[in-house]
Amino acid sequence: MMTESKKLLIVGGGLAGLTAAIHLSKIGLKVTLIEKNEFPKHKVCGEYVSNEVLPYLNWLGIDCDDFNPTHLNKFQFSSVDGKILESELPLGGFGVSRYVLDKFLYQKALENGCEMIQDTVETIAFSENQFTIITAQKAIFTSEILIAAYGKRSNIDQELDRSFIRNKAPWLAVKAHYSGVFPDNLVGLYHFKGGYCGVSKVEDNKINICYLADYKTFKQYKNIEEYQKNVVSKNPYLKSILDNCEPLLEKPLTISQISFEAKKSVENHILMIGDSAGLIHPLCGNGMAMAIRSAKIVSELIEQYYNYEISSRSELEKMYQKAWNQNFKRRLKIGRLLGSIFQKPKLTFVLLRIITVFPFLLTTIIKNTHGKSIDMNTK
Ligand SMILES: Cc1cc2nc3c(=O)[nH]c(=O)nc-3n(C[C@H](O)[C@H](O)[C@H](O)COP(=O)(O)OP(=O)(O)OC[C@H]3O[C@@H](n4cnc5c(N)ncnc54)[C@H](O)[C@@H]3O)c2cc1C
Repeated sequence: MMTESKKLLIVGGGLAGLTAAIHLSKIGLKVTLIEKNEFPKHKVCGEYVSNEVLPYLNWLGIDCDDFNPTHLNKFQFSSVDGKILESELPLGGFGVSRYVLDKFLYQKALENGCEMIQDTVETIAFSENQFTIITAQKAIFTSEILIAAYGKRSNIDQELDRSFIRNKAPWLAVKAHYSGVFPDNLVGLYHFKGGYCGVSKVEDNKINICYLADYKTFKQYKNIEEYQKNVVSKNPYLKSILDNCEPLLEKPLTISQISFEAKKSVENHILMIGDSAGLIHPLCGNGMAMAIRSAKIVSELIEQYYNYEISSRSELEKMYQKAWNQNFKRRLKIGRLLGSIFQKPKLTFVLLRIITVFPFLLTTIIKNTHGKSIDMNTK
């Protein structure tokens, strides 16, 4: 617990930013979080959260049963032509929409006394050991420490001239909720030419269908409907699911220019968390757990810094970079490798043959793209 109340700024109120806000306010910091969108809001996401974060969420005072999630413990994988592999999910996970989860965390942050501001951060400058932030509404904020949790791609990446933003990002994603029949405990990952689709249930018996597609394949079709009919539904499992369910949202949500390139976890002295520090390939289903875990790592180090257990800003930055790499670098690499294998039908075929002969390999792959359950007794 902080002996005196220190101030801290967070940019971005997704999972990473909200979790850090809850953690830092719980230990006594005065947190201001700036988020450009209103809460609640639907987001493009597979909405499967690994159970590895449950002990930490409990420590933060969050009881996941409050939002009535589904409990997910089975995994089904299919190749483009519908060959199926199945496995248990070693740690399991839960299914909850981002609409419900982000709103729940937002309310918890408010309860903890965080100041929540709706505005878009436009510029961030660092000088004389202090950050100055200017927003679209021309508000000015200053802070000694700045956490960036603004997600996978933002105007701030341009402003900071981060290297990944200069390269083309050829992925887009589509997500919608449906009513229909799908097992309550299953995460399905079904491939189609140029992409893959995740299917699982969230609260209130809703089915979340979310796919990642290569822009080259997508642009040959006029719209999402045509693409789903001619490409996504070529996978017999996806065809059967899509033919038998009814959309619940007015129209699907889409995002584009998704990049899986490596990023830096500290940029211009800013501590990056969640997707701002690196986005794991969504087929690993671990981005949300990483966002939550990175909030824990940064918050614990900031606590040590303010308690003078870390002697300088440069030591704080080095310790954060090291901890980030230890926790996430390997997962991201495996995610990138899997992403590139599944782009190549022949390699996918070989990998599936190998897994059919040695089924334990599927569990090993899942374990390697996830973390171990967070132990709240160790830092
Ligand atoms: C297709 C797809 C499927 C996925 N499926 C899964 C899955 O099933 N399981 C899983 O664990 N992960 C999944 N992920 C990954 C997961 O969605 C992300 O890792 C997670 O959302 C990261 O959270 P975040 O807080 O870093 O970013 P976000 O949740 O994106 O939050 C960033 C916030 O910053 C705000 N912001 C941006 N710029 C500014 C600004 N200038 N000023 C103020 N606010 C700003 C945004 O409005 C946003 O609210 C998937 C990702 C994709 C693309």
